Amino acid sequence: MLFAFGYDAFGLPAELGAIASGESPSDYVSRCASHMTAQLDRLGFSFDWERSFVSSDAIMYRWSQWLFLTLLDAGLVYRGTGNVDWCDTCQTTLATIQVEDGLCWRCHNPVRLVQRPQWYLRVSAYVAENDRRLAEFENWDENSLASQRFVLGRVDGVEVDLPAPGGSALTVFTPHADALELARFVLVSPKHPDVEAWATDPEVARRLEELRSGGLERGSRDAEAIPLIDTGAWLPSPSGDERLPMLISPVVDGRFGATAVLAIPERDHADEVIAERLAAGAVASSARSSSAAPSAAPSPAVAPVPRAAVRYRADDFSISRQRSWGTPIPIVYCDACGAVPVPREQLPVVLPLDITPTGAGNPLAESREFVETTCPRCDAPARRETDTLDCHFDALWLWIPACVPAEARAESLEDILALPDLRHWLPCERVVAGSDSGNFVFDQRIVTKALRDIGPLAFLADGEPFAGCLFHEMVISEGRKMSKHLGNVVDPDALVERFGADTVRLAVLYAARPQRSLNWSDSAVLRCHRFLTQVWEYSLSRLTAARELVDGEELAAGEPEADGENAEREPVKDTSEHLRRRLAKWCETAVEKVTQDMEAIELHSAVRNLMRLFERIKDFEKRVLARQGQLSRADSEALIDALALLAQMLGPFAPHLAEELWIAFGREENGAQTPWPGVSFRVPA
Ligand SMILES: [Zn+2]
Ligand SMILES: [Zn+2]
Repeated sequence: MLFAFGYDAFGLPAELGAIASGESPSDYVSRCASHMTAQLDRLGFSFDWERSFVSSDAIMYRWSQWLFLTLLDAGLVYRGTGNVDWCDTCQTTLATIQVEDGLCWRCHNPVRLVQRPQWYLRVSAYVAENDRRLAEFENWDENSLASQRFVLGRVDGVEVDLPAPGGSALTVFTPHADALELARFVLVSPKHPDVEAWATDPEVARRLEELRSGGLERGSRDAEAIPLIDTGAWLPSPSGDERLPMLISPVVDGRFGATAVLAIPERDHADEVIAERLAAGAVASSARSSSAAPSAAPSPAVAPVPRAAVRYRADDFSISRQRSWGTPIPIVYCDACGAVPVPREQLPVVLPLDITPTGAGNPLAESREFVETTCPRCDAPARRETDTLDCHFDALWLWIPACVPAEARAESLEDILALPDLRHWLPCERVVAGSDSGNFVFDQRIVTKALRDIGPLAFLADGEPFAGCLFHEMVISEGRKMSKHLGNVVDPDALVERFGADTVRLAVLYAARPQRSLNWSDSAVLRCHRFLTQVWEYSLSRLTAARELVDGEELAAGEPEADGENAEREPVKDTSEHLRRRLAKWCETAVEKVTQDMEAIELHSAVRNLMRLFERIKDFEKRVLARQGQLSRADSEALIDALALLAQMLGPFAPHLAEELWIAFGREENGAQTPWPGVSFRVPA
């Protein structure tokens, strides 16, 4: 079993943290990483630290550069000019997922669409396979599966080809297969590949341009306020009996992707709202009312036949950012040759570390030393790409370096990807991530499929990097997500200082199952602290008593002539065998239950079962004492065995305390670390 850990260190949060603390981002990141490593170490996490990494180290981000070039070769990364969400405050483009209700995910200011050259990741090539594979997943919990369905945004329906002007056809989609005759107009995404053909009218073209270059204020994206452009053109309805006005609107994208849809007001609320706006004349249109004859489509000779179809909201997204704290994109611009990929043997393209961002613009573009270079193809003076990769792109491969021994990291990527270690460790048995990680996991699954088809991960036939997945909920405090921004963070250092690492670990596990929000409260900490303190004190006192009992009996046996003492030392009459049998049964049940809990990652339940076992051990002693006044040697041995078992099972939860007890019980033959009961050690070959 390999527990891997890495720091996803590029990106806006680190850049802003550096700005706030007046450091360079690289200093800030290494300071944070050492602090966090020390915290995790203190809490006794058993990550393989030799394999841990910081994604902003040049030896690591060359992976992203290699991946970029590899996907570029395969046509899965492409340069496009398109509408991108832009935040004026953050001076950066945003992925669709970073826009929440028309607001920037980070600063919560309104976002607008602008047109800009961007690098894109073509996820659309694998969206349908990501959908299909979901049915094969066994060890994915409900939350993680739901996140994958949400990112897909699958809509089932029908599509039909409507004759368009110039003899071509436009394929339109609707989820309402039984209501084609109720269609009243057609909505086309401004990102639709054929949209230009509908914007030949100068006024329509102007409005489309306006919409793309910032005319769309994203304060509200709902149907009441979203921009609509009436092209003045129309298409015949599927039955051929009616003319459907042709409108361009981004309302399509967020629901069906960059496609064209039949609008059916009687079935769809958004369509109904737009129909009302049309009727009220509140739609940007000049073509329809102008004297210029609108282009009319021919009526179909035969009604087109609808066919079953699926649309996905998941779509290609931009992976480049106009910020300096990120992986440099390995591209050089030459006047003669255009955009030229940096040859792989010249990787990494190193990010200068002396850049101190201020929060405005892109300081990387102002570094002549970085920007000025020569063209790899013709040797002429050329300029480096100054956009960097979004840290979302770095995250696409984060699970791979963990499989590679640290000493192999300096090798070429081709050699690393050929290591048998990858076949040994992949697919990951389980990825455990926060419940907001659905997009990361979705895109990681896509890139695995791409690398399967390209070659390096061909051994993963289904293209899935994770055999299992568990999404944990967030820690909340006073009803809100715990975050530095809200100032309601509980400082783990202070808790560890006060209660010890084992109490903090146990309290986190005890308070909630991973799939539930953990409402942080001090009572869980106090309860767990009391439990561990009692286990410790009780175990040590009973161990002392047991030793005294044995010593006393041996003393009595060795000195039969000693007078007076003999009567007191007479072995206790043993009448409690049935109680010991019951204790043995309780122990057996506890091992069974806690093991099951561990396998199901129901750790809160495991902690409860350990607490219950401790209560039963104490109960056993109480009953024996009530019955015969004191413990017989057999009782004492049974009690110590049960306490040792409890210490053994506490190992993964409270490792520091468990190990000390394990040694105190004299059971460290297999090493100081407590093994799991019933599991024999296999020495790895
Ligand atoms: Zn912003
Ligand atoms: Zn050139």
